[in-house]
Parts: sequence; C-alpha cells; structure tokens
Amino acid sequence: MGQHDEWVARDAAVVWHGFTQMSSYAESSPVLVDRAEGHEVIDVDGRHYLDAISSLWVTTLGHTVPELDQALTDQLARGAHTTMLGNGNQIVVELSEALARVVPVDEPHFLYASDGACAVEQALKIAFQYWVNRGVTGRDRFLGFGGAYHGDTIGALSVGDGGFGTTIFDPLRFPVLRAPNFADPDCFPIACTMVAEHARELAAVIVEPLVQGAAGMQLASPAGLASLAAACREHDVLLICDEVATGFGRTGTLFASEQAAIRPDLLCLGKGLTAGYLPMSATVAGGHVFAAFLGPDLSERTLYHGHSYSGNALAAAVALRHLELIDAYDVLANVRARSDELRGLLDDRVVSRPGVADVRLRGLMGGIELAPPAEGLRWGRRVCAAAVERGVLLRPLGDVVVLMPPLTVTSEEIHQIVHTLTEAIDEVTNFGADAP
Ligand SMILES: *Cc1c(COP(=O)(O)O)cnc(C)c1O
Repeated sequence: MGQHDEWVARDAAVVWHGFTQMSSYAESSPVLVDRAEGHEVIDVDGRHYLDAISSLWVTTLGHTVPELDQALTDQLARGAHTTMLGNGNQIVVELSEALARVVPVDEPHFLYASDGACAVEQALKIAFQYWVNRGVTGRDRFLGFGGAYHGDTIGALSVGDGGFGTTIFDPLRFPVLRAPNFADPDCFPIACTMVAEHARELAAVIVEPLVQGAAGMQLASPAGLASLAAACREHDVLLICDEVATGFGRTGTLFASEQAAIRPDLLCLGKGLTAGYLPMSATVAGGHVFAAFLGPDLSERTLYHGHSYSGNALAAAVALRHLELIDAYDVLANVRARSDELRGLLDDRVVSRPGVADVRLRGLMGGIELAPPAEGLRWGRRVCAAAVERGVLLRPLGDVVVLMPPLTVTSEEIHQIVHTLTEAIDEVTNFGADAP
C-alpha cells in the first residue's frame, strides 16, 4: 500500500482547499504532490502525471527549469524581499524596464501585487481615482462582460459575473453594467452601445482579451475587441485589459491584446508572470493614467494603496529571467505550432464524438464542452478523473474540460493528452467503439 491515503488524511485534517468541498475532498482521489519536474507532477507514491493544466494556468516553461532555479538562488543571496513603499529595489527596476519594452501599454508604469485578483483591485481603484484626480465627477461605475472572471476578492468578484457558487456573495458585490457573454455574437456591438450611452458614469470597461478563460474558454474575435477599444477611446472611458490568464504567450502572442492591436489604459498581469514559480502580479498603467496621480507630496492625488509583498525580489528575479527565456527558447513559435497540432487532433478525434458539444481553442488555451444528456451526471469531473487515472492531470470548469498545457509542451505530449482525453470521454460517456 502506498502513502497516498495517509497524506490525504493528514492534508484533510489541517488544510482548507479553495473551491473544494472538504467533506468529500479525501474521497475524490486528489493528487498529493511530492515534487514537480519538467512537465510532470509526481505524487507521494511516485506516480507521474502530465501537468496538462499548467498547475491551474500558471506554469509556462514547466517545473524546475534550471535557468529559473538559478535566477532564484542568485537573488536569494541578495535578499528575498524589501519593501516597495517609498523605497526601491534594483531587481524590480530591471524587471520593470524589461516589461516596459514588451507590454502593449504606452509609457507603462508597474504597480506590483501578489495575485491576479489584487492586480484587478488595483486597476479598479486606479480607474476610479483617475477621474477624481482629474476633477471629473460621477465616473464611478464599471462595465464588465457576462461570464467574466477577474478573481475572488470583493471588487474583482463584483466586475466578474456570477457562477462557481459565488452567487452567495451577491449582497457584497457592487453593481456593474453588464454586456453579454462572448458566446453571444452581438456582445461587442452591444457593449459599444452601452459605452456610448453610459460614458458619463463609467470609470472603465474591463475585459479579458480574446478568451474568457473561466467562462469555459469562450472566444472573442480580435475585431470585436478592437471595436470595444475604439468605443472606449471615442467616449473617453478607460479600458482595463485583464491578461492575468492570457498574458505571457498563452494565446500565441506575448499578450492577447496585440492580436487586436489595442493599447489598454490599464493592463492586469499575473499567473504566467513568474513562469508559475512565485506569486506576483502587476497592474500596468499608461503614462496618461499615471500622470493624473502626480501632485504635491502627501496630497490627495497619491494612490493610497499597497501590499506587503509588492515587488518581491525573488519573484522579480524569476520574472525577469522568464522574459529572457521566452525569447531564447522561441516559446511563442512553439505555442503556435503546438496549437495548430492540437487543433488538428481535436478536429480529427474529438469534435465529432458523441457527447462533445463544442471545442474551443486559442493558442494553448483549450476547452472541450461536453454535452451530458441529463443534469447532474458531472461529466466534466468524471472525464477529468478518468484522465488523471491515465496519468494526465486535467481539471474541468463545469462540463468544459480545460486543456492548458505548459507553453513548452512537446508534440508527443500533445498526442498523449488527446489520446488520453478521447479514452476518458469514451469511458464516461459510454459511446466508445464497443458501446451499443
Ligand atoms: C485567474 C484569473 C484571475 C485571478 O487571479 P488570482 O491569481 O487567482 O487571484 C483574474 N483574472 C483572470 C482572467 C484570471 O484567469
């Protein structure tokens, strides 16, 4: 007998897992990780799993990347953390200079935090205060999209749409103007009309460029996104692009906003920023936004906001090296090639399978929407569990199976993922070759 059960029991006794019902956690065959290497996680009994969800969308180059490990140890010798409040740190300056050269924001300034949700909170507060500082009144509302997800803190939860069991928090959410979900082909024309009609109340529009991840990989056209940016510009409303999920190569370009040739006023970064190594996020403000906060020392124009671990030096060192490696390894070319390959395989083997309603893919963000014939069959969960049994770590969003492999995934691994997925789908949906 392996050590799995004992570790799970110890885990369930003291750890509280997010988005997880703890009374059934131990019975749901969780993978209890001993270590992670390359594209795999290895459990306490030595079983290997291909990490096809990039440890919930954060891992870009894989685990234990020698160059990133080195960057981390080098920085460790120079101190793990010093405060960014009123003081600076060399490695954070270097990271910001490197990011400034590549982010789709004009004259960018970087305010760091630790999680994606905090980057969103910062963007919302900056957008609100931007208008106050400029002496414009009444600009205190936000426009978000149906199906949007921006994180789990109260502000991020407010601009996000409901779902995932979060409706219980509705009384805490502030009201937001809501355009339709990306699945509605008219969502952008409608959003643009709303921007025009409500411009004088709107502080900002917030959008996930090209892919609504948590909505189950709902895709938007670059042209639709560009029309939204144009409406914001025309009506003088700030545009916040939440690239926490799409940033750092996930969609085939370094940032998804590039594919629509848009330059948001505020950009939120997280997840892949440190290659999945350490918690770091950033709110990127355009020069015109930043300038609205300049004024006399101690004046009301200052942004009174900051987090203890803002600009953590270890995270900054890894993030800086990560940016260099994305170039050195030509990671974006691999994302595009593997994405094309994955699309071909999914078209061939998955799209037409009974039980599959839709397949959506952009770059290496994929969603396989299952179509269970009745409520409560939990196909998403069961297909992923069947894949985990076969050594491929997957996790669903409802009945959408998410495919989010590391950006350095190989052709062989893409084949392994699709092969495992088809077996898992057939097992659960019972439409396999030998089914009646
Ligand atoms: C994951 C995610 C967030 C929240 O990031 P956390 O680090 O989990 O707080 C925000 N926006 C988008 C688009 C995300 O995918």
